[in-house]
Amino acid sequence: MRIVRNIEELKLEPKGSLALTPTMGYFHEGHLDLMRKAREANDTLVVSLFVNPTQFGEGEDYERYPRNLERDAAMAESVGVDVLFVPTVDEMFPRRTTQVVVNGVTDRFEGALRPGHFTGVATVVYKLFNIVRPHRAYFGWKDIQQCMVIQRMVEDLNCPVQVEFVETYREPDGLAMSSRNSYLSESERAIAPELHRQLVIASNEVIRNGRSNIGSFHGQLGVYRQALEAKGFSVDYFDLVSLPEFAVATDKDDVIVFIVAAKLGRTRLIDNVRVYWRNNER
Ligand code: AMP
Repeated sequence: MRIVRNIEELKLEPKGSLALTPTMGYFHEGHLDLMRKAREANDTLVVSLFVNPTQFGEGEDYERYPRNLERDAAMAESVGVDVLFVPTVDEMFPRRTTQVVVNGVTDRFEGALRPGHFTGVATVVYKLFNIVRPHRAYFGWKDIQQCMVIQRMVEDLNCPVQVEFVETYREPDGLAMSSRNSYLSESERAIAPELHRQLVIASNEVIRNGRSNIGSFHGQLGVYRQALEAKGFSVDYFDLVSLPEFAVATDKDDVIVFIVAAKLGRTRLIDNVRVYWRNNER
């Protein structure tokens, strides 16, 4: 595996298909699963590791975001990554004069609560696409609104890349793996799986109620918020939306998704569960 620190040295001359998996590092099994999926389906795999300052808001965790290049390099190597691209901030952002702004899907939830976040994400991913020129790029469903932002950017700007979304990789107790889980204290870690548990309860309930009753289901969402608050979470949102726009879910939508963001102490966690209706269920 090559570790490359600047664009000049990247010099990729892939034979066959080239895959890119953008990350911010501090790898866990979710990252490795993403890399394995990309590895299996492509001839060359580039993983970028860049803690992107432009996607963090003021007062967020950019400075304390966990970093460990040595450990990450060993983990990437173990799943057969060809190139680990680890640019510096100056290399990626010598200036910040041009940005990629994706409208619509960014209006609500993460986009509203973290102003500028998705512009930072879209801009860095667009740059990585131009630098690496992958045929395919891999992203995790865990960050579902990010997936929709990237998909929209690729469509709107005709990026010559195929985006692939990979299922959320979870701890045995259901907690979605995340680099930020390392912030959790022992007692917070014990409570954290409740986030996924409430998503599963809600999705089972919406399926039981049936597609035609989605309209009234929105009134029930407070129950899940309160269940989380009772466990000690501070809930930013627990909602039911449609893809790809993140609009209010209706019985016309073939895919709906429960999304949640909540803080446990100083740690902000997000998760989601998708529900696919079979066509004859309307
Ligand atoms: P990050 O380093 O957190 O920016 O994540 C890099 C990529 O890995 C993103 O596309 C994430 O959606 C994805 N990812 C993060 N956590 C998981 C997980 N638990 N399962 C699957 N993919 C994940």
